Amino acid sequence: MQEDYYAVLEVERTATIEVIKKAYRQKAMQHHPDRNPGDHVAEERFKVCTEAYDVLSNPDKRARYDQFGHAGVRGGAGAPPPDFSSIFDQFRDIFGAGGGAFEDLFGQARRGAQRGRPGSDLRIKLPLTLNEIATGVEKTVRVKKFVACDTCHGSGADGDDAFETCTTCNGQGEVRQVTRSILGQFVSVHPCPTCGGEGKRITKPCAACAGEGRQRGEEEIPIAVPAGVLEGHYLTLRGNGNAGARGGDPGNLRVEIEEIPHEHLSREGLDLYFDLYVSMPEALLGTDAEVPTLDGSVTVRLEAGTQSGKILRLKGRGLPELGSRHFGDEYARIHVWTPTKMSAEETMLVEKLRTMPSFQQRPRLDASGNSHKGFFAKVRDAVLGT
Ligand SMILES: [Zn+2]
Ligand SMILES: [Zn+2]
Repeated sequence: MQEDYYAVLEVERTATIEVIKKAYRQKAMQHHPDRNPGDHVAEERFKVCTEAYDVLSNPDKRARYDQFGHAGVRGGAGAPPPDFSSIFDQFRDIFGAGGGAFEDLFGQARRGAQRGRPGSDLRIKLPLTLNEIATGVEKTVRVKKFVACDTCHGSGADGDDAFETCTTCNGQGEVRQVTRSILGQFVSVHPCPTCGGEGKRITKPCAACAGEGRQRGEEEIPIAVPAGVLEGHYLTLRGNGNAGARGGDPGNLRVEIEEIPHEHLSREGLDLYFDLYVSMPEALLGTDAEVPTLDGSVTVRLEAGTQSGKILRLKGRGLPELGSRHFGDEYARIHVWTPTKMSAEETMLVEKLRTMPSFQQRPRLDASGNSHKGFFAKVRDAVLGT
């Protein structure tokens, strides 16, 4: 006596597909062979749950099951065994990209199962602002790509019985070639030329996709970008590339990070730089100045007599290091702005200043004639204003 599929997943007979997916995910996690090594009971439960999910997640099969019970989906003797490949596709579908440990399962389950032709990889560029890079961000992108055919769910065939076993290879998917030579007999194994290694042939192709099992479409793909990525970094979303032909494995999606330049801040590694212009009187008398950061602007206090070229460090206001709690710094480079046009009155005032003792000093150059100290010698930690 076979268990009722709804009872297996512990859902109501009226459960929506979302509820069924959720229930299956929970059960699959619980009984997954990777989590229960050597436990045959768990393995059996995993299989039963997967079988139940295969039926209840497919509207046609579910309708037949509701009407005829197990007989409705098992078919008569000689009916094809459940298509585990498609089950694993659904499985992947639920867990989304980067299924972690579950990817291993697909890998193991698929080895040796020759299906269709794999889909190709896709690349997209993902432009991000510095703010998005600083905090990490969830983005959804629309990708034009091959998707599995709606009508045949990727099989390429018009129904489950539109296949026949390949007669060239007897369904093995490979052919052996025996070559005799004076050195002896060589046996080589090649993919079957008739069926391309699939072991079966479609007798009646799906009309919607002409037997390809895929069609042009679009998909919305969520992308979780961690904080601290760099231009040129890329994320690989497994299985989010083009759908394969006739149920072949999908390709991967490679997401390349692009940095959108910030309006005021430039970046070097984890550190940010800002050019802070102040007027001559501000440099002479001191002032409070606004410095933009990725987290709003801050007020810094410039002391009276601030030199052009002085660098203020705003500790920890840079970008986070990918995968760590360390942050870079922001540096504000001070430039004293020299006016290029002055009124007669201004010129007169400056002429007057010029004769004053404090305005006749010149800095002493070092032996090399170089007054430029190294970058870090000029760095002072910022005095933040109130
Ligand atoms: Zn189709
Ligand atoms: Zn063949």
